[in-house]
Amino acid sequence: MKIRHSLLIFVCLFFAVGLAGGLSPVAAQPEVQAARIGETPERTRFVLELSEDLAYRVFTLPDPFRVVVDLPEVTWRVPAERQPKPKGLITGLRFGLFAPGTSRVVLDVAKPTHLQKVFIIPPREGKPYRLVVDIMEVSRTEYFAAAGQAPTAASSGEPLSAALGVTLPRPRLKPPQKERADTRPIVVIDPGHGGVDPGAIGVSGAYEKNIALDYGRALKAALDASGRYRAVLTRDRDVFLKLRERVAFAQNAKGDLFISLHANIHRSGKIRGASVYTLSETASDKEAAALAAAENAADVLAGVNLGEQTGDVRDILIDLAQRETMNLSKKFANDLVAEVGKDVKLLRNTHRFAGFAVLKSPTVPSVLFEIGYMSNRQEERLLRSRAHRDKVVVSVTRAIDRFFGRQSSASRS
Ligand SMILES: [Zn+2]
Repeated sequence: MKIRHSLLIFVCLFFAVGLAGGLSPVAAQPEVQAARIGETPERTRFVLELSEDLAYRVFTLPDPFRVVVDLPEVTWRVPAERQPKPKGLITGLRFGLFAPGTSRVVLDVAKPTHLQKVFIIPPREGKPYRLVVDIMEVSRTEYFAAAGQAPTAASSGEPLSAALGVTLPRPRLKPPQKERADTRPIVVIDPGHGGVDPGAIGVSGAYEKNIALDYGRALKAALDASGRYRAVLTRDRDVFLKLRERVAFAQNAKGDLFISLHANIHRSGKIRGASVYTLSETASDKEAAALAAAENAADVLAGVNLGEQTGDVRDILIDLAQRETMNLSKKFANDLVAEVGKDVKLLRNTHRFAGFAVLKSPTVPSVLFEIGYMSNRQEERLLRSRAHRDKVVVSVTRAIDRFFGRQSSASRS
């Protein structure tokens, strides 16, 4: 079969027409009821069973090679034991909310692939609507030589709803601005990962994105209750945010402090303890570098096209404003280590440095807090317990008090 494009964008208009016509006022959220992967010598087939006919958009991304399937916001009703196992060209699969209005499936593929066919089969023989995506292996040269090659920003980054011309409520990307009269510091809390990017997965199956959100909400509640701060969350639901969107959020919020919350895994199940990271051009050790690489891969995991993103940590580091911000970041990291260490087990060399993309704000002091290791059975259990969470939240709040206490006493002297 002749393939004309390496990148094909399929958009069904039923969804848009249905909304524009006002046919269904508030329908139940559509569902993905099953997912399967099949394999023949010529191709790998990916099938989603859908509760109704849905708009879709399918495209490929290079380096690393991925196939992305976007749908309107859907509920994933595939039980854990029936998640498809990697097969053929497909080496991994993730699902989740990519942006409000767009659910996304990301397929990791071992080799460059073309979309051979993408189509919907209407219900028959007791089966519901099925979205079928056939992919075939091509050479790297063929992948890039074919018309369309590199996907555009619109095809990879834009929510499906926007591609369809449907207006859906946007998340509040611009947080409330500080009013003049209110001089309380603004603390931006950033629960790591989310939606299509689960983050690390613990020994008993806990998702880092859920732990991060749980701790983030609890920390916000504690800071708000203190009356001394205004706390804002970069996300307060299970949705994906790009790393640069998190940085932009902190800038727009005129944040005085940015804390990105994460939980870690290590190949040794014995390693445990909390750790704190700040931005540096050079990593303090191999493990910090590996962790930064893993955390920076969040956008790749979520099927974001990195082709249009340029620059790295180095660009920012020469900025003088950034130096002052980095000094404050380090001071807060020290406060955090001191206060958290009173209540919670710490990793050795607790404060480390590496090139974390999410810590690149030039004006907002930023730290990344790895609350603990989900690869350690005991610590994973602690991370999921309310008592431990509350203990961590109290100690982080003390660290924030210490940080701003010193800042204000320094400015008075
Ligand atoms: Zn993380």
